[in-house]
Amino acid sequence: PPGPAQDLTLDPLVPLRETFGFSGFRGRQAEVVERVLAGQSTLAVMPTGAGKSLTYQLPAIMREGTCVVISPLIALMHDQLRSARANGIRAATLTSADADWRETQDAFRAGALDLLYVAPERASQPAFQALLESAPIALFAIDEAHCVSEWGHDFRPDYRALRPLLERFGDVPRLALTATADAHTRADILAQLGIPESGLIIAGFDRPNIRYAIRPRESLMRQLTQLLEDEPGPGIIYAPTRKKVEELAQRLSSQTGRNVLSYHAGLPPDERADNQAAFVGSEDTVIVATVAFGMGIDKPDVRFVAHAGIPKSIEAYYQETGRAGRDGDPSQAIMLWGAEDFARARQRLFEMDEGRRQGESQRLDALAALVETAGCRRAVLLRHFGENPPETCGNCDNCLDPPDVIDATELARKLLSAVYRTGQSYGFGHIQKVLTGADDERVRQRGHDQLSVFGIVERDEAPLLRPLTRALQARGHLLPTDHGGLALGGDARAVLVGEQIIAMARPPARKTGSRRGQAN
Ligand code: ADP
Ligand code: ZN
Repeated sequence: PPGPAQDLTLDPLVPLRETFGFSGFRGRQAEVVERVLAGQSTLAVMPTGAGKSLTYQLPAIMREGTCVVISPLIALMHDQLRSARANGIRAATLTSADADWRETQDAFRAGALDLLYVAPERASQPAFQALLESAPIALFAIDEAHCVSEWGHDFRPDYRALRPLLERFGDVPRLALTATADAHTRADILAQLGIPESGLIIAGFDRPNIRYAIRPRESLMRQLTQLLEDEPGPGIIYAPTRKKVEELAQRLSSQTGRNVLSYHAGLPPDERADNQAAFVGSEDTVIVATVAFGMGIDKPDVRFVAHAGIPKSIEAYYQETGRAGRDGDPSQAIMLWGAEDFARARQRLFEMDEGRRQGESQRLDALAALVETAGCRRAVLLRHFGENPPETCGNCDNCLDPPDVIDATELARKLLSAVYRTGQSYGFGHIQKVLTGADDERVRQRGHDQLSVFGIVERDEAPLLRPLTRALQARGHLLPTDHGGLALGGDARAVLVGEQIIAMARPPARKTGSRRGQAN
């Protein structure tokens, strides 16, 4: 079928309306499209849902030649392919899952393709370069461009291998796209892909309709059940492992009576596709998933995104929570975190090589700062992405219900010295007994009742020990040992000698006895 007209003199608003059915550009789309139409290489950093696809699809139909789209996931490419074709755009993919290679290549050579999607590992192969020599190229669109940066949270070496290809076609403009790139990653993308600094366009990151809340995981099942009762709309619950996904989906379904599905890479492809389709088509379904779920899913009315454990980084958190409320209606993002999440993540640092460890460690510190702050969550998030937001937003847990901030420096010093004096091998329970002067056989046996730290914590301060330990673990001042004990780490020494102040939010008073461990 004949494709849309390729007329360089056309006003972009015409195909925007006629091909895509949109009455106008959104956010900074217009600027990006304008640059690309003028043949200028560009890096567009725009939040999920901002409409990045349009910024290359529109130039693809307006510029002469084919737009080559580099994209990391076959599923993502096929989603894009479907929606492009539904708009009457001449698009094809070249992936291992396609049987129509010959036709696609013929169409490309004949100049009958607006869009050609390809994975980075294929794009860097000589055979593909040879194909590209055979017809004009309008544009290289590099999706998920943060994958090119080792500094980014999702480095893929295949993206690095794109360079020779891009250099070979040096006069073809490049459009790099990402939803998640901090300043360091952005600079890296520009350098790696040869995009001038003036080509950086960053759309605002704020998602004002999303209400952020971050709480300790007290009893995961109880907290999630509550959420599902309060919020009847569709939602996503991210869980750290496949096993946890299965377990939560099953229990939440039977305990809340809601329609709860599961999604992870271990499910048979049919079932995964069915569950995804059911979720997308429904107005009340909850999906429990690993982070494999969500990329490329266009569901505007997701009312909540919950994390049953910490995400990988602030970037990942922003991207995952960003799947809520794309329609602009009020939505919630709730993270339920445990000290053990940070402990495990910090343990993994030791298995990394030096170069990676530093970046990961800083990412973890940034995440801990978001989790630990008594101030506005949105302000921390937006500052992380280089914006200069107001101090308060009025739509996060800490703005709506400001916690009491207490100076816990003295208590932290007591806690850390107890860990130190008992030999950095005991767990929280033992340390707590020592500090509160408990009458305990094991404490006496080890001679810990003779230590100067025995019984130095007052009764009214004792309830703060657990949240303080959690805070110190999140910040890396306390590290887990191989045998479930606690050891000093990070800047613990600076705290001990009084050089560093520890402020923390006063934990809300417990209504019932401790329910920890019940469903964690
Ligand atoms: P991203 O890739 O940035 O996450 P998408 O390209 O998937 O976002 O677009 C998100 C949604 O916004 C899609 O449903 C898309 O059709 C819609 N959209 C994009 N541009 C516009 C626009 N100018 N006007 C209205 N809707 C738009
Ligand atoms: Zn706020």
